[in-house]
Amino acid sequence: MLVDSHCHLDFPEIAADLDSVFALMRENQVEHALCVSVTLEDFPRVRRIAETYAQVHASVGVHPDYEKVDAISVAELVALAEHPRVVAIGETGLDYFRLKGDLEWQRDRFRTHIRAARECGKPLIIHTRSAADDTLRIMREEGADKAGGVMHCFTESAEVAKAAMDLGFYISFSGIVTFKNAKDIKAVAVEVPMERMLVETDSPYLAPVPYRGRTNQPGYVKHVAEEIARLKSADFADICRLTTNNFYQLFKHIKN
Ligand SMILES: [Zn+2]
Ligand SMILES: [Zn+2]
Repeated sequence: MLVDSHCHLDFPEIAADLDSVFALMRENQVEHALCVSVTLEDFPRVRRIAETYAQVHASVGVHPDYEKVDAISVAELVALAEHPRVVAIGETGLDYFRLKGDLEWQRDRFRTHIRAARECGKPLIIHTRSAADDTLRIMREEGADKAGGVMHCFTESAEVAKAAMDLGFYISFSGIVTFKNAKDIKAVAVEVPMERMLVETDSPYLAPVPYRGRTNQPGYVKHVAEEIARLKSADFADICRLTTNNFYQLFKHIKN
């Protein structure tokens, strides 16, 4: 059995046909998917999917790429995270690739999420792009290790992975690891121990080979796990078992 640790089932590219999404999950033995929130405006739809389908849980948070949304507070996030189907805070983090200029608001918002995660005892889902130093610095300053979490869709160096793992974080690999030209990420996947690894699709984007360019879906996480098994010269069954165990260990509210 496999799990998809990060997807966006509420996005229009995929939300219209969830029946076929769940059918492919069953076919590929993907037993669970974590549907990740990107704005509080969209959160009710994420929550509804997690309330409707036993194989889906939700997170609550505001993605760093969404600049023109209302400011959020720790109290607001904590209140929304009380819902029993909400098992994580995020996705949050820093993205200096998509947005430029004075991004102090992004760092403030990231701090708010870390404080909320610590307060409600639910782990963080962290997105970081072209901002590894600030991401790690803020994680340390805010005590993110006390909440734990995952560095999702990881595309940074082995050193950044190690620094995050030293803070108790998991490293999640997406379909990017299957791309021919992603040599650096493939090398990081070899370095990260299986005990700290998760797999995800980030669907509807970033479909793995052989579906690259198509709409991604949680069932395709199988191809991410297959590539990691190949890179690590490990058994596919072991990658499935360990990444699934890691997932339930991290998102501990799922099986409680
Ligand atoms: Zn992300
Ligand atoms: Zn995402």
